[in-house]
Parts: sequence; structure tokens; C-alpha cells
Amino acid sequence: MNLSKVKTGVYVCHCGTNIASMVDVAGVTEYARSLEGVTITREYTYMCSQPGQELIKQDIAEHGLNRVVVASCSPLMHEPTFRRACQEAGLNPFFCQMANIREHCSWVTDDREKATRKASSLVAAAVKRVHYHAPLEMRQVAMTPAALVIGGGIAGIESALRLADAGKQVYLVEREPSIGGHMAQLYKTFPTLDCSA
Ligand code: SF4
Repeated sequence: MNLSKVKTGVYVCHCGTNIASMVDVAGVTEYARSLEGVTITREYTYMCSQPGQELIKQDIAEHGLNRVVVASCSPLMHEPTFRRACQEAGLNPFFCQMANIREHCSWVTDDREKATRKASSLVAAAVKRVHYHAPLEMRQVAMTPAALVIGGGIAGIESALRLADAGKQVYLVEREPSIGGHMAQLYKTFPTLDCSA
């Protein structure tokens, strides 16, 4: 999309004190306002809460936002939450981008100034990145839930077992007559002195 048509909303989360105690949230929010394509910025105590999600939805409706950046926790935790909020407001969910300013920032330092600088950089990168996102569509395709594991050493055996525990059909291929690899050749393993075979 032409950058002049991009309207991005940036939402910076406090996560109670998880982020706010180490990152100057107001400062990051203010900085985000200066970034190209940003229409609105907000800070909020718990962005993943219902009122937090409503903020995003309202802004999409009222300000015609076509991009959303949420600076909060790991995408592993709440990317589906914010994508869903965007979708419910009529925006393609892939126009939402998260900046991880908790696990990658506030939780791993005790230097407030550096944490704030890093949070600002992460937000700037997310704003830049989301400009170039395409409106993706989810598709369902038929698949066979099976896996091929090549090599029956310790790593191959462990992978095969985990896949099998997850309900997948596993084909474990080993070129030698027996599995176990180098591990099976050891007498005992340190420090438990278990028989490795
Ligand atoms: S969105 Fe993430 S960082 Fe924000 S309150 Fe929820 S869990 Fe905490």
C-alpha cells in the first residue's frame, strides 16, 4: 500500500507493572506518535482485557485505521487475541503486528533507560514492518498427519516419540541394523550412571 494511505494505530501496554515498571510507557507512546504513517497512539494498563480490545476496535471504526501495532508481550501469548479483535472490527487480521516489549525487553533488564530505548526501537520496527503487510487469507488444505524422521540416534528417537505422543503417524528411518546411534555405544552416562542403551 502507498505509505501515504497507511493509518496505523499503536497501542502500548503496561501489563500492570510488568512492562510499566521498567519501560517509560508514556515516553514510548509519545515517540510512536512521531513515526511515519501513525494516526493514533494509546497506552493502556491491560491491552488483552476486553476494554483494551474494544479500544482497538473503536479506533478502527472511528479513525479508519488500516494497520495496528500492539506493543506488549510475546506474540505466542496474544497474537491470536489481537488478530481476532482486528478481524471483528472488519480489518484483515494480518494487518496486526505485535512488538514484544515484555519478554524481549522489560523482563530481561534492570536498566530503565535502555529498556525504554529498546521498546521504542521495537515499536518503530513493528510500525515499519506492518506498512508492508499483505491482506492474507486463511485456507484449509487436506493433509496427512504423518512425519518422516531420518536417523534413529538419540535425537531421532526423541523426535519420533514426541511426534507419536502428539498423535502423528511416524516413520523412523535408520541406515544401520539397530537404532540408538552413538548413544547406544556408551557404557554408562554421567552423572546418573544410567545404562545408555
Ligand atoms: S497484552 Fe500481554 S503484556 Fe499486555 S496485559 Fe495482556 S498479557 Fe500483559
